[in-house]
Amino acid sequence: MDFYVYNTMSRKKEKFVPILEGKVGMYTCGPTVYNFAHIGNLRTYIFEDVLKKSLRYLGYEVKHVMNITDVGHLQSDADEGEDKMELGAKRENKSVWEIAKFYENAFLDDCKKLNVETPTVICRATEHIDDMINLIKKLEEKGYTYISNGNVYYEIDKFEDYNKLANLSMEELEAGNRVEVDENKKNPLDFVLWFTNSKFKNQIMQWDSPWGRGFPGWHLECSAMSMKYLGERIDVHCGGVDHIPVHHTNEIAQSEGAIGHKWVNYWMHGEFLVLDSGKMSKSKGDFLTVNKLEEEGFNPLVYRYFCLQSRYRKQLLFSFDALKDAEIAYKKLKNKVAALAKDAKEDQRLDLEKIKNYKNKFAEKISDDLNMPNAFTVLWEVVKDNELTSREKCHLVESFDTVLSMNLFEPNEEQNLDSNIDSELVDELIKERDMARKNKDWSKADEIRDKLSFMNIEILDSKEGTKWKLK
Ligand code: AMP
Ligand code: ZN
Repeated sequence: MDFYVYNTMSRKKEKFVPILEGKVGMYTCGPTVYNFAHIGNLRTYIFEDVLKKSLRYLGYEVKHVMNITDVGHLQSDADEGEDKMELGAKRENKSVWEIAKFYENAFLDDCKKLNVETPTVICRATEHIDDMINLIKKLEEKGYTYISNGNVYYEIDKFEDYNKLANLSMEELEAGNRVEVDENKKNPLDFVLWFTNSKFKNQIMQWDSPWGRGFPGWHLECSAMSMKYLGERIDVHCGGVDHIPVHHTNEIAQSEGAIGHKWVNYWMHGEFLVLDSGKMSKSKGDFLTVNKLEEEGFNPLVYRYFCLQSRYRKQLLFSFDALKDAEIAYKKLKNKVAALAKDAKEDQRLDLEKIKNYKNKFAEKISDDLNMPNAFTVLWEVVKDNELTSREKCHLVESFDTVLSMNLFEPNEEQNLDSNIDSELVDELIKERDMARKNKDWSKADEIRDKLSFMNIEILDSKEGTKWKLK
């Protein structure tokens, strides 16, 4: 089946054609490990995880490479502000190395909780300094660099079509980057490849280089490490939309400048998760994390479910109410699957033709630039299809869950499968009771509580909402 993806470079949905038949090389920009990942960041990693698993579902073997930025990322993507790692170290009174290790582990723990699979290769910037130095040397040989005030800059005017990914005029790019005036730069959009002591005297992470002791610019690591592990031609490169005008634009200038030909075939970008109050920001310190969701009583997979109910190229508005709705739907789905699993018997029919049709239908949805809401619709169709045996349904759900990764066969925590509780009805009654309480209709709320009690259900009101368990 043909797989179609929206390519930021062409601004079109394109048929995916891999460089090597049956194989995909995929690079995704990883976290800067100076703080916890917020759930906005994690939305992007969930999108990339689903992309990888969809490609696999369609029969491709995927090599996925992701970097860990543990050095050299300044607060602004355009070479300004303080070093993020140093900021983290100051904040917590630890060494930059300790900060990097701690937050890398925290990030991987979050991914595990969200069923975001570990990439084939995870590469740390600090372990690839030589590769970065070699890349600068190549760029220097080809005349793309200049030295000013001790730092090595990339001269963007030497690279044709610098703005091809963002498709913005130079003025718009400049305005978007909010670059401060830096008299050392020939063009305000030039960026640093190698910083030396002259700029950050107190920088702890430093290495020797042909240009003096110092540290690399942030954009360099992705060019150097992606080519090291995936070669000079890469199928897919992903990240969040914020990376389009600066980071990915600069990555292209570096990589294509050095190799002299097209570097990446498909650029895919995930839109932002937003709050009512606007952008979630680490610098403001008020961001939501997986830990926070857990503290509020949510299984992290509810957040994954929530993300997969919308298209990755659309902004997604987060609220706890919306998350609660996702929780109800997710539990309902798991209850259905649990009942199917209980009912499925070895001797039940397995109609391979029907199974193939549904698998194709699911594949069609994910092949439409990862239309996950429609993929879920196919899943619900399967669950509700009276023509299928429970065994066939389970077989299909299991297959779809290799992409969705929603642990659909794991029972809900509150659920007791041996009981004959209709959990869908319970959820509905609880919703009705919540509404009655909102409307201050206390007698109706009590009436529903009694009804549930009669069904042997105990309800627990908490600030995260109403939960239930068997008495
Ligand atoms: P960072 O650790 O800041 O480099 O970000 C990690 C990833 O999260 C990058 O791919 C960003 O583009 C992405 N990202 C940052 N903020 C958001 C957000 N609010 N929603 C979705 N993705 C985001
Ligand atoms: Zn990157």
